[in-house]
Amino acid sequence: MTDSYEIIKHEYDVVVVGAGGAGLRATLGLAEAGLKTACVTKVFPTRSHTVAAQGGVSAALGNMGEDDWRWHAYDTVKGSDWLGDQDAIEYMCREAIPSIIELEHYGVPFSRTGEGKIYQRPFGGMTTHFGEGTAQRTCAAADRTGHAMLHTLYQQSLKEKAEFFIEYFAIDLIMDDDGNCCGVLAWDLSTGQLHEFRSHMVILATGGYGRTYFSCTSAHTCTGDGGGMVLRAGLELQDIEFVQFHPTGIYGAGCLITEGVRGEGGYLTNSKGERFMERYAPNAKDLASRDVVSRSMTIEIREGRGVGPKNDHIHLHLEHLGPEVINERLPGIAESAKIFAGVDVTKEPIPVIPTVHYNMGGIPTNYGGEVVTLKDGNPDSVVPGLMAVGEAACVSVHGANRLGSNSLLDLVVFGRSAAIRAAEVVKKGAPHKRLADDHLEPILTRLDTLRNANGSLATADIRDAMQSTMQNNAAVFRTGETLSEGVDKMAEVAKSFADVKVSDRSMVWNSDLVETMELDNMLGQAMATMTSASNRTESRGAHAREDYPDRDDGNWMKHTLSWWRDGKIDIDYRPVHDYTMSDELEYIEPKKRVY
Ligand code: FAD
Repeated sequence: MTDSYEIIKHEYDVVVVGAGGAGLRATLGLAEAGLKTACVTKVFPTRSHTVAAQGGVSAALGNMGEDDWRWHAYDTVKGSDWLGDQDAIEYMCREAIPSIIELEHYGVPFSRTGEGKIYQRPFGGMTTHFGEGTAQRTCAAADRTGHAMLHTLYQQSLKEKAEFFIEYFAIDLIMDDDGNCCGVLAWDLSTGQLHEFRSHMVILATGGYGRTYFSCTSAHTCTGDGGGMVLRAGLELQDIEFVQFHPTGIYGAGCLITEGVRGEGGYLTNSKGERFMERYAPNAKDLASRDVVSRSMTIEIREGRGVGPKNDHIHLHLEHLGPEVINERLPGIAESAKIFAGVDVTKEPIPVIPTVHYNMGGIPTNYGGEVVTLKDGNPDSVVPGLMAVGEAACVSVHGANRLGSNSLLDLVVFGRSAAIRAAEVVKKGAPHKRLADDHLEPILTRLDTLRNANGSLATADIRDAMQSTMQNNAAVFRTGETLSEGVDKMAEVAKSFADVKVSDRSMVWNSDLVETMELDNMLGQAMATMTSASNRTESRGAHAREDYPDRDDGNWMKHTLSWWRDGKIDIDYRPVHDYTMSDELEYIEPKKRVY
């Protein structure tokens, strides 16, 4: 029996959870389509993690040299190490062009070329002519592209009369007995009031779960709440072992230095002053794919050629670019380097180290944003009433490794496509299905249990144990030994959650309870990451096994699915889509991935 909570009830056509780039793009499309739309977000929209995105968003506009969306698709498939679904990749790269032009028309203040076109910079792994030249494909608003996108999308959504519920924490999905999603229960953090949002569609746009690791570039809010809700609903996550380490996190601080710096001509050196990327990636050099650069840096450090008193990091140079280029194209980077590393980038290199940055895996969806599940042998069965977009989702366009500037693209293309699909399947103003009187009981029981938890372990202590286990046992390089030890350790950490203590019992601004719920959301994903990684006995993209150094297409060209059941992770697999969407793009055959 739970405490009695007074609950305010709302009815919408669609509820979006999350107001980052993905959530806002979906919200805007839904409101434009005339659907009654609510957007529920735990932080103010323009403070969502997307605000940190620096370098830009990819689209084969060809403003600064020849380009073609098929070349973009080729690079994305190769970047994904052939784990991406080629139909979804075709959709993303083709739709990139109208999606970015649309953003320009909505008012995103992109930087400009001399002719007034959108400015585009090179990014890692982006080529022309199917791997031959270097593409300038990343559309940039200086080094503050995410910031510019959020402000524009939020303003446009307000103009279209979308309704925002800000600093509301979504606790759980409301699922009926037939497995349909019927809404979400959220908590207004400032008043303590609970709100039940009934809707015909819930769109999860809650971002990644980078905070399962100790050192990451993600905001403190990146706790994978959507993934946690999906696991509790008995559904699966996909390809969660693929965690991207960005080569250039500031040493000691974790803040990101965008790949756009290397796109503008920045380069890496070791303690001997060598530009070592020339050895590992003779063609692309410092602009090779992120996993390749991160591994090369790790090898340099391991072999004693790291810089600094402990030889444990690498130098990133942009002094040679000159103050003019730096001030015009990379002003935010100069500021971050000054604040977080005490470095004047016009005179000295920035100390950097590979840092956890992005989750390729997430909630499985089709390219219309609909959540899919393995049911009666069909891995593409749609879960009625539930969609996911952005970093929370796995559509899967990034496969085993995401290319830089393809995430902001994923947000806008699939945020847009989810809105288009929702407008097709949701009937405006249709009555909501009647649910049993006690339908909220399981959610309220969990809330009550956590709120009154009186064990012996602080939330922060359990979180520390999780973060150090992930950092040590699921790192840039992995082995069977470190991973199976990691599985055991994570199981212990997850078990210890039963002994958590929440000190504050109030419902108003209770950060202790919020962090405990976020930890609960992260634990399942940490367990799934470790177990999926332990099971995958090959190296592919960001998953680098020292004991299985080669990609093994015969056995492993398949997506991992993971469920959290009774404190354990169950694993199954589904085939990679080895077909494209139309005759305009031929299937890109697997080959060795070299840069
Ligand atoms: P987010 O922006 O993380 O938004 C999540 C939203 O969900 C927030 O509004 C939050 O309030 C809400 N939310 C979460 N949980 C709840 C809950 N329980 N209840 C209610 N609301 C909730 N990618 C690129 O393509 N180009 C770049 O240049 C680039 N630069 C980057 C720089 C940095 C430093 C980092 C870390 C990443 C960068 N990325 C870049 C990656 C990209 O920024 C992210 O993948 C992307 O912004 C994620 O967007 P999102 O909309 O999915 O989630």
